[in-house]
Amino acid sequence: MSVATEICEPLAVLGGDVEVPLASGEKVGYAALDYAASAPALKRVWDDVAAYAPYYGSVHRGAGYLSQLSTDLFEQSRRTVADFLDLREGDQVVFTRATTDSLNLLAGAVPAGTEVFAFETEHHASLLPWRREGLTVSYLRAPRSHDEAVAALEEALLGASEGPKLFCVTGASNVTGELWPVKRLTEVAHRHGARVVLDAAQLAPHHRVSVRELDVDWVAFSGHKLYAPFGAGVLAGRSDWLDAAEPYLAGGGASRTVARELDGSVAVEWHTGPARHEAGSPNVIGAYAIASACRALDEAGFEELEARERALVAKLTEGLAAVPEVRVLNLFGEGSDRVGVVSFVVRGWNSSHFSAALSAEYGIGVRDGLFCAHPLVRTLLGGEEAAPSECGAPESSLPGERSLNAIRVSFGAGTPVEHVDRFLTAVRELVSDGA
Ligand code: PLP
Repeated sequence: MSVATEICEPLAVLGGDVEVPLASGEKVGYAALDYAASAPALKRVWDDVAAYAPYYGSVHRGAGYLSQLSTDLFEQSRRTVADFLDLREGDQVVFTRATTDSLNLLAGAVPAGTEVFAFETEHHASLLPWRREGLTVSYLRAPRSHDEAVAALEEALLGASEGPKLFCVTGASNVTGELWPVKRLTEVAHRHGARVVLDAAQLAPHHRVSVRELDVDWVAFSGHKLYAPFGAGVLAGRSDWLDAAEPYLAGGGASRTVARELDGSVAVEWHTGPARHEAGSPNVIGAYAIASACRALDEAGFEELEARERALVAKLTEGLAAVPEVRVLNLFGEGSDRVGVVSFVVRGWNSSHFSAALSAEYGIGVRDGLFCAHPLVRTLLGGEEAAPSECGAPESSLPGERSLNAIRVSFGAGTPVEHVDRFLTAVRELVSDGA
């Protein structure tokens, strides 16, 4: 299969020339195939941040020129993100630390008495924040098709109360890379009066996320998976619940006025809008970097990004399918649409040893484990859990040790075809050497 090899300029990433030592002592170019954990930053983003760095100052606080400039750039970054997500009139963008932070913020803003629904297949960041006083959570069993997912949600909502409801769904799985039928699920949720929050941590780096088009109420994503550095993320969407909630953090910036009362207490009037949940000095550089990444993705165009990635996914899955010892993990069945994220197990191998060998012998960085989605990975491993020889190390070589985890390979905009080729060669060689 031929894959377009060119990576268009706005999406060139840092780290392409990093060399790492192999166990043999030889050095090779690092093949970063763990984008789903954290993607390398775009050169463009790094350059933008470097150009801005000498000018940054405190935002919303200073009268000085650089403070005003920084305030402008911070608010402009918010508008860039709003455009990138195609938000509706009245929606707001809150800068957070990452997706986990965004979803915890929203969980704190959900009205008391809300019933929350989520599939058990979610990443822990979208599975766990709802377990708090005042909310009830229903976890829906892992569906094995889009139709099953839609039917399961419909059934759950039919049995729900009249009160406020929220459905949390991921756009693309961080384990299988499979796309979820967000629009269909949102239509069902809204028909039953439930609001929807989309965990777009894995979707936003690969596909256009239009809040208006998907009709979701909120969306959350992380800068470090969207080609910006660590430390900043986004929660964007409807303002009403956010404006009515207690501030995520109490402190300066979130408070409009604070006054000492005659009885000695302190009365606070909180801001509405993003400031309410952004107390303290915000991560201006992080927000600026996210906006820069959004602009680069827009400039490159998602159509081109998606076409290139589709070809790489096909190359990878076809290559893995040709190795009989490999089993790719799919929730919705083989051939389901996915982003550049693929998890698999290798018969006769412990997954952690396999990924360690990819690193030590080939300079390839992947991830192994349960990927912060324990219920999903356990469902996908299914039979393997009961039969360790299927995916674990042979008992004879690793007494008492069973592999209950998987290997994940993931990529994105900056991945050259050579990295996928090297990975497939490595898998074939390791499997045949280990046989
Ligand atoms: N949601 C999904 C689908 C993820 O893949 C991740 C991270 O891997 C998260 C949420 C949490 O993101 P962060 O660690 O940036 O908060």
